[in-house]
Amino acid sequence: MSSTPGGYAGKILRVDLTRGEMTGEPIEEATLRKHIGGVGLGAKYLYEEVPPNVKWSDPENRLIFATGPLTGTQARGSSNITAMGKGPLTDGAASSQGNGFFAAYLKLAGYDAIIVQGASRKPVYLYIHDGVTELRDASHLVDKDTVEIDETIRQELGAKGRQVSVLCTGPAAEKLVKFAGLVTDGAHSCSHNGLGAVMGSKKLKAIAVARGKGPVAVNDREKLSSLAEEIFEAALKERMLFREKLNIPPLSEDKKTYWATTDNLRNYAAHGVLPVKNCSTNIFPEHATLCAPELQTHYEIIERNPCWRCRMIHSNKIRVTKGHYAGFEGKEPEYSHMGVLGSNLGITDPGAIVMLTDVVERLGFEVNEAAFTISWIMECFEKGLLGAKETGGLQMTWGNAEAAKAMLYRIVKREGFGDVLAEGLKRAAESVGGKAAECANYTRRGTTPGAHDERPDLMASMDIVFSNTGWREHRFHSRFADFDLPPVKDPNNPEEASTGLASIKGAQQFYNSVGVCIFCTKPYPKLLAQMVAAATGWDFTLAEAFEAGRRTVNLLRAFNIRHGLTPDQEVPSTRYGSAPVDGPAKGKAMMPHWEFMQRNYYEKMGWDSKTGKPLPETLEKFGLEYAISDIWK
Ligand code: SF4
Repeated sequence: MSSTPGGYAGKILRVDLTRGEMTGEPIEEATLRKHIGGVGLGAKYLYEEVPPNVKWSDPENRLIFATGPLTGTQARGSSNITAMGKGPLTDGAASSQGNGFFAAYLKLAGYDAIIVQGASRKPVYLYIHDGVTELRDASHLVDKDTVEIDETIRQELGAKGRQVSVLCTGPAAEKLVKFAGLVTDGAHSCSHNGLGAVMGSKKLKAIAVARGKGPVAVNDREKLSSLAEEIFEAALKERMLFREKLNIPPLSEDKKTYWATTDNLRNYAAHGVLPVKNCSTNIFPEHATLCAPELQTHYEIIERNPCWRCRMIHSNKIRVTKGHYAGFEGKEPEYSHMGVLGSNLGITDPGAIVMLTDVVERLGFEVNEAAFTISWIMECFEKGLLGAKETGGLQMTWGNAEAAKAMLYRIVKREGFGDVLAEGLKRAAESVGGKAAECANYTRRGTTPGAHDERPDLMASMDIVFSNTGWREHRFHSRFADFDLPPVKDPNNPEEASTGLASIKGAQQFYNSVGVCIFCTKPYPKLLAQMVAAATGWDFTLAEAFEAGRRTVNLLRAFNIRHGLTPDQEVPSTRYGSAPVDGPAKGKAMMPHWEFMQRNYYEKMGWDSKTGKPLPETLEKFGLEYAISDIWK
C-alpha cells in the first residue's frame, strides 16, 4: 500500500448494521488523488456499491459520510461533512454538505469517511472514541427531537463542552418522511434529498464522535496556515464590502460578526428572486423587516456558536426580543429560512420565522421541501383548491405561522393529509392533481427549488433541474475568470446561460470535496487548490481540481442514468417553469427556451444530446471507462 498523503487519515470505517460489524479499510493514495474527498469520494463508493436494483430504503443502499484533505486542519471552517446515498425524492444520487464539528472529529479519530450498510433490527447509535467503535442501544432516543437527542447522547457519554460531536436524525426520519434530514451538533443541517430517511430506514439514530488528539498531519503546516489566513481574510473582506455597499453595519467592533446570510435578502427582493407566497407573486413590500440591519432589532445573540476553526462568529443562538414570539430562543435563521419560511409563507414577523426554523430543525426536515410544501397548501387553501378536509380544519392562510407549525407536526406523524405530504411535494401534488398540482414548485425529478424564486435566473433554474443530487451544484455566477473561463455576459440569454452552466460545472464539486465551509472560502478557488497542495504535498493545481470536480459530475450522472434518469424528468413543474406575473422579473419565461437549453447543456457537457448520457469519450477523458458498458449497453 502507498503511504498516506498529508491531510488524510488513509482509512474508512465500514459499518454493517445487519451484522453489527465495524471494520477499518485502507484507501489508496491514487484513489484519494482521483476523487479528493467529500462528494468526489462519496460518488466513487456510491457508484461501486449501489447497483440499480437497490431502492433507497433497501438495506443495501449506502449512507456515506466523507471528509476532505483540509478537514480538521487549521483551515477556517474545516469541518464540512458530505453525506451521500441513494435519495428517496429523486430515486437517484443524494449529496448534502453540513458544518459544525463532526467532520473534524471524525478525521481526528482516524477516518476519512464512514460507509454505513445494512439495517439494524432495533434503533442504535454509533459511538467512535479512543480508537474504539461501538453500536449502542438507541431505543430511548425514539420520538425525541434532534436537540434532545444531541443533549441526551452528550449527557450519557459524560461529554463536557465540545468533547463530543453528534450527528443525528429526528422524528421525520423515524417516519421515513422523504425529506427528512440530518443535523450535526444540534445546529447544522445536512439534509437534501432525504438522507435522513435513508438513515431512518437503517434504524441508525445518531453517530457520536469524541474529539481525538490532533493535529491532523499535513505536508507543509506553515504554508497551509498562511494560505488559510489569506483566504479567510479575503472572504471576510469581500463580505464586509458587500455589507457596506448595502449600508449594513458590522455587528461587532472587530467586524468579524455578520448576520448569517440574511444581508443578501434585499438584493434578492430587488431582482425578483425572493420567493413570495409560493412564487404566486414577486412583490413583498415588507421584505426589509427580514434582513439586516432591521432584523437585528428583533433578536439578541445569547450564545456564539461558530464551527470548528471558524472565526466568522456565525451560527449563533439567539433570543427574540419583539412581537408575539418575544422570549423565544432558537437558532439564528439564515437567508434560506427568511426566504422560504418567511416571504414564501407571507410571514413578516422575524420571531415567527425563528420559531418555524426551530420546529423544522428539531423535527429533522429539509427546510426547502418542508416550506414549499406548506406554501403550496396555503396558496391552494386561498384559491379553494384544498379545503378543511385536507387541512384537517387548519386555517392555512398566508402568514399563519401556528397553522404552518401544526401542519409540520401532522407530516411528521403522517397524520391525515400529512401522510400524503410526507412523500414530498412532487408526489403529493401529483396525487392531488388538477389545478392544485399546477401551483406546486418542484422539478419533475422530485425535489423543490432552493430558497429562491429561481425563475428569473436561467442558470440557477437549470442548475436545480439538471442537478445530479437534487440540490444546487453551482454557486459561481461571478467567478468564471477564477477558472480561466469566458464570463457569462447575459445570464438570461438562453444560449449563454446553458453554455456557461456547462462550462463551470464541476467547480462546486471541487469545493464540496475538500472539507471546508463554502462561506469561509467561496470566492477563491486558486487559493483553495494551493491549500490542498500544501496539505497533501501533491503538485496540485486548479486545473486538476476542476478536472476532479467534473469527474464527480460525470460519475454521478452515470449513476443516475443507471438508476433510471431520463431527459423528460429534467423539466420544471408547471409553476416552477412559469413566468413571474409581477415584480422586477415580470413576464420572463424560461419554458420557450427549455428544449434548446437542455440540448445545448447536454452537448456542452459532452453528453448525448437526446438521452443526456455521458458519451464514451467523455467518460474516458475522466478515467471513468468502467461506466461506459453500464450505461451504453
Ligand atoms: S461560516 Fe458559519 S457555517 Fe461556515 S464554518 Fe463558519 S460558523 Fe460554520
